[in-house]
Amino acid sequence: SLEIASKRIKPLDPQLVNRIAAGEIIQRPFNALKELIENCLDAGSTSINIQIKEGGLKLIQISDNGCGINKEDLKIVCERFTTSKLKEFEDLKSINTFGFRGEALASISHVSRLTIITKTQDSPCAFKAMYSDGKLAKDGIKPCAAASRGTQIIVEDLFYNSSIRRNALKGGSDEFAKIYEVVSRYAIHNYHVGFYLKRIGESSMDLKTPGCSIRSVENENYLQDVIGILYGADMKKELERISVEYDDRLKFEMLAYMTNSRYTQLKQLTFVLFINERLVDCQPIKKSLQNLFQMYLPKSTNPFIYMNLKIDPKNLDVNIHPTKHEVRFLYQDEIISRIEKSFEEKLLDSSTSRSYYVKN
Ligand code: ADP
Ligand code: MG
Repeated sequence: SLEIASKRIKPLDPQLVNRIAAGEIIQRPFNALKELIENCLDAGSTSINIQIKEGGLKLIQISDNGCGINKEDLKIVCERFTTSKLKEFEDLKSINTFGFRGEALASISHVSRLTIITKTQDSPCAFKAMYSDGKLAKDGIKPCAAASRGTQIIVEDLFYNSSIRRNALKGGSDEFAKIYEVVSRYAIHNYHVGFYLKRIGESSMDLKTPGCSIRSVENENYLQDVIGILYGADMKKELERISVEYDDRLKFEMLAYMTNSRYTQLKQLTFVLFINERLVDCQPIKKSLQNLFQMYLPKSTNPFIYMNLKIDPKNLDVNIHPTKHEVRFLYQDEIISRIEKSFEEKLLDSSTSRSYYVKN
């Protein structure tokens, strides 16, 4: 009979485990940047400055004016599952910050050369530390001069230790296009925060929004301004506001802006969706709106839609893996039909008052 030797089972080297996990979370430069932006917002920043080299593959540098990181925490900040945002599993139910798993910085440190410069309000100076593979580099934490409170994260040579990943990416301009998309979406949703995006070596900046410090109904003209900055004044003047007041039974509310049928520049639907402050995908919502607009807009005309959806955290599955951007929530079908109805009312409303094109 054939002899088959059983191989011994051995645990994987922890460094390898961490690098595999990191590769799952950080697949392209924009994944890293999204996590870093969310951290800036979690830290209460009102100004976020982003500088990019080679589509983020060479450099992602992001500076904020948020709360900063305590010197004592710099030792462990890049270890996996270290966070200031979650203590118990129960907290998951009411979490309102973006990150909660303490994995982003750890992951980034496993696939790049990572430097953190940070200053808290009380600290007389800033501190600088470099990391690789989740650990503080040998030269430790060094004091350095800094004028004001905040954090700067510098990510260099992304995927330097993974040539397969590095080579699979097409190149700087494709990666920058995704980076621009992510920054612009966060800039719309967080119109109260001033965003600045620039490619190092280019003469002009790519994006700059004013910020207004407080996100409120009174300040929604700033939201429209940001859309105007990104897509042009022609689009801005065709925006319509749609809202659904908090529904006690379905436990959700919605605010959206969409372009009306006079705006015909878009080749495909642009759907910017935030649920509970996270940029996410939800195919069922997207599909329902696509079908609806098909009935009301002229052929091959597509809307821009920004949607801010708030769902009771109890009804939303937030314990999703960072790579899964598709979300699920309770009462999904009912909520979607309420949303659809509110859009349809607006489309009908505008079609009677402003001679919309309606298909029969
Ligand atoms: P998470 O956001 O899930 O907590 P991260 O790895 O993204 O995990 O960040 C780890 C911790 O580092 C955060 O909990 C926070 O305390 C701190 N941190 C990261 N970025 C910033 C920042 N820009 N400003 C202030 N603190 C930060
Ligand atoms: Mg985070």
